Amino acid sequence: MQAVCILGATGSIGQSTLDVLGRHPGRFRLHAVTANNQVDKMAEICTEYRPQMAVMADEKAANALQARLKGSTDTQVLGGTAALEQVAADPGVDTVMAAIVGAVGLMPTLAAVRAGKRVLLANKESLVMAGELFMQAVREHGAELLPIDSEHNAIFQCLPADHSSPLAELGVSRILLTGSGGPFRELPLKRFADITPEQAVDHPNWSMGPKISVDSATMMNKGLELIEACWLFAVPHTLVDIVLHPQSIIHSMVAYDDGSVLAQMGNPDMRTPIANALAWPERISSGVEPLDLITVSQLNFQHADERRFPCLRLAREAVQQGGSCMAILNAANEVAVAAFLDRRILFPRIAELIADTLDHVQSRHTQQLDDILQDDRTARDYVKQCI
Ligand code: NAD
Ligand code: MG
Repeated sequence: MQAVCILGATGSIGQSTLDVLGRHPGRFRLHAVTANNQVDKMAEICTEYRPQMAVMADEKAANALQARLKGSTDTQVLGGTAALEQVAADPGVDTVMAAIVGAVGLMPTLAAVRAGKRVLLANKESLVMAGELFMQAVREHGAELLPIDSEHNAIFQCLPADHSSPLAELGVSRILLTGSGGPFRELPLKRFADITPEQAVDHPNWSMGPKISVDSATMMNKGLELIEACWLFAVPHTLVDIVLHPQSIIHSMVAYDDGSVLAQMGNPDMRTPIANALAWPERISSGVEPLDLITVSQLNFQHADERRFPCLRLAREAVQQGGSCMAILNAANEVAVAAFLDRRILFPRIAELIADTLDHVQSRHTQQLDDILQDDRTARDYVKQCI
């Protein structure tokens, strides 16, 4: 029995993970779940899955959950951000699904890494912010890092099983990171200022939380994924091409020196990478509809236009710059996306604010956690002031 902790259990990835776990009761046991403040959803999860521990980052929400569960389950309820790290590192846990959204996911995910867990990484922001020290912690503490982001999980599946040597030595020539282009791939640029939050979160192929949905619409998601790929697979950004593929059937590809290009395909449903990582190196059922290529009938590819999606260029510049520049990019994006979702800024302003922040907030060549967290705060303050 694998004991699982889900950080961010009430979110989109959290719910898909619960769905896969529920299909294999003899194989996995839900040990701990965490959420921010959604008491109703968390109470449902605790009643259905009866985990040992449940954490609400928000202390008031923890009290409310405790009151709600009284007498119905023996789940221990904890509150506060320190408890997120505590359950991620709990000795009773084998596998941690890191599915909190945003930079707040960094510390609990790092706690799981430092405790040497099998870490299923959905929270890409933690790698973007602190990739170098994160990957070093993985090596130092013998953690097992498995990518959940569908593109990175696809790349992982297309690489040789042991890819601990540099990819060039394994005959890998390029990584082809695919992206659908989101809901505005064809919208005339002059209409970008009219985009509403409802339109931006309505992704044509994937059902996801609001922040990553807006990231997909600006294509900052692909920018963050470019950085994520560089850290996960130890490749320079110049080896990673971004390719638009509107159907989201191929989830990414690896090109080899002999001319072979390996692709991983499947219906766009996160339960596939989740099941893949939960069972790795074995394979288990995920509940995902089998892929019917005759119905799909066409797979198209096109160039990603940086004029339409300036966030792609900003992300490439940040990874090239290195150091805390990627944490600054990520922080500016989080604040700008939240402001857009709150209708305080227009859609094109997201990229403008990030560019402005990268121009004004000095980054450092550092891999110290304190420096990175400090630069993250400075960037957030700067963007808030601009707004
Ligand atoms: P979501 O918004 O649906 O869920 C986020 C989860 O994080 C919730 O459980 C919420 O309670 C928790 N959370 C939010 N703020 C918190 C805080 N301050 N403290 C503690 N917990 C907090 O997001 P999602 O779509 O499930 O995405 C989660 C992560 O996975 C993101 O990093 C995203 O980029 C990544 N990801 C998601 C998908 C997808 O299909 N949804 C695909 C690839 C990667
Ligand atoms: Mg992805």
